[in-house]
Amino acid sequence: METYADDIENVLIKADEIESKLAEMGEQITRDYEGRHLLLVGVLKGAFVVMADLSRHIRLPLEFDFMAVSSYGAATKTSGVVRILKDLDHDLKDRDVLVVEDIVDSGLTLKYLLKNLAGRKPATLEVAALLRKEGIQQVPLDIRYCGFDIPNEFVVGYGLDFSERYRNLPYIGTLKPSAYGG
Ligand code: 5GP
Repeated sequence: METYADDIENVLIKADEIESKLAEMGEQITRDYEGRHLLLVGVLKGAFVVMADLSRHIRLPLEFDFMAVSSYGAATKTSGVVRILKDLDHDLKDRDVLVVEDIVDSGLTLKYLLKNLAGRKPATLEVAALLRKEGIQQVPLDIRYCGFDIPNEFVVGYGLDFSERYRNLPYIGTLKPSAYGG
């Protein structure tokens, strides 16, 4: 049934661990924003799975919006220069905005995005990220809700791809060298 199983080297975070962490994060967000009306902003494509699952643990009136960005330069490393491919549909002015990210690696993409979004004058602007690569952020970022700190390895699953594949894996794992086409 699971067509990708042969490509996975290690399962770093199991599906049920992700599920309970997202439930915890959702509860915290529900408490923190009580009585308010939140706008979730997802960064495509990776964030769509986290966004769908996290949002169902947030017991508040929610609106959703998405942005698509692409980094210039090499595919495996972010340069920090970000191009907006699809902008938001919502006006952020005076809104409570929560950016939902799959993973924060160098932090450069997020830094650019936050600066861009802050310029639109939201009432509040915070970040929820499922994964953060430990200790390698080139820029210190205040991630209000963080699921897991993981080692500096390339991971796939739960929205994260390699060459557009593996996004539908229900867990986070690393790839065998053979899966990279080697
Ligand atoms: P940053 O700008 O923080 O270095 O990188 C952010 C983006 O790079 C993420 O949103 C994600 O698309 C991609 N990325 C960073 N690390 C990984 C990883 O381990 N696996 C996958 N599939 N994508 C990653």
